[in-house]
Amino acid sequence: YADYIMEPIDEPKVDNLQRPSEDYKLANATLLSLVRNSELDGILSAMEQVEAKFNSKFHYPWTFMNDVSFSKEFKTKVKAATESEVHFITIPKKLWKKPIFIDKDLEQKNIDLMLANGVGYADMESYHNMCRFYSGTFYNIPHLQQFKYYWRVEPDTKYFCDIDYDVFKFMQDNNKSYGFNINLYDGPSSITKLWNTTMEFLEEHPKYLNPNGAFQWLLEDMQNPEKNQIAGYSTCHFWSNFEIADMDFFRGEAYSKWFEHLDNSGGFYYERWGDAPVHAIGLGLFEDKSRIHFFRDIGYHHMPFTNCPNSDRCDCEAGKFVPWFSVEKENCMANWVKYGM
Ligand code: GDP
Ligand code: MN
Repeated sequence: YADYIMEPIDEPKVDNLQRPSEDYKLANATLLSLVRNSELDGILSAMEQVEAKFNSKFHYPWTFMNDVSFSKEFKTKVKAATESEVHFITIPKKLWKKPIFIDKDLEQKNIDLMLANGVGYADMESYHNMCRFYSGTFYNIPHLQQFKYYWRVEPDTKYFCDIDYDVFKFMQDNNKSYGFNINLYDGPSSITKLWNTTMEFLEEHPKYLNPNGAFQWLLEDMQNPEKNQIAGYSTCHFWSNFEIADMDFFRGEAYSKWFEHLDNSGGFYYERWGDAPVHAIGLGLFEDKSRIHFFRDIGYHHMPFTNCPNSDRCDCEAGKFVPWFSVEKENCMANWVKYGM
């Protein structure tokens, strides 16, 4: 795996890449960001890099989403950072707010337990809302119905590599539904019931299981057996703060019925299920693994992890994953290389 990651790379190994040209016809896609007014500088920084490395050559539209309205300053500065069309969306309350059936006492009891187990953001309701939103409701926003693909962009992330082909057309032309660039284990105490709740659903609806799913990747536990003991599966997931994906997968019957089952269990509030493990389990069980793509060539950083390929298109330290060795063990990309591809 160490050799694999240091292999010099160029671009995805296909011969149908599409480059910018005159009269270019875009794929049905948007750059997508959920962001707070207070994160203006951070989103401008990420935007500037996505524009410089990719979007100034293609001009895909941007969509910004917020649970409250965007400020004048936010809108003005963001619009000035791109030549593309920009949309500002206030998220409908129903897609954002905690469902009313959540029991306050049970919720508080579980928050205390999670805090004792060191689960980050356990007592921050807006973080739970965010995780539920990115897990299962964002693709139902009326404005997003017109789009098929999105590229999720977070404030303060870094993009290191020049991308001179259309990543959305790549998804389309090569029948991909999900693209990622970092693979991580999760903190198992945030998701102790996620796997069992999923198994309940599968027992009721075995027909949704994809015969070519990435099961072995979800189950593999050689490197971190203690995670598996707490969570019931490996906890390995695609780090979803970067993702390029096809919303039609999430909108499909298998994923959306499963999300409904998860949501009705209350686990987004009684635990702190992240959208990353939820996307990963959904993809691992219901999607053909050949439709999942490792964007090795998209050099990326979100604190504290990095994907940096060995390529002269990239302005980063090849092979770098973490700034300090103690979190190296959080990397499970080797599992994906072995069982997912
Ligand atoms: P972390 O990466 O897990 O530490 O979580 P972040 O704080 O980066 O949140 C993930 C994404 O959701 C980021 O793009 C945030 O800007 C966004 N986000 C998180 N909470 C809220 C919120 O309450 N309102 C809005 N509008 N965006 C949020
Ligand atoms: Mn973040």
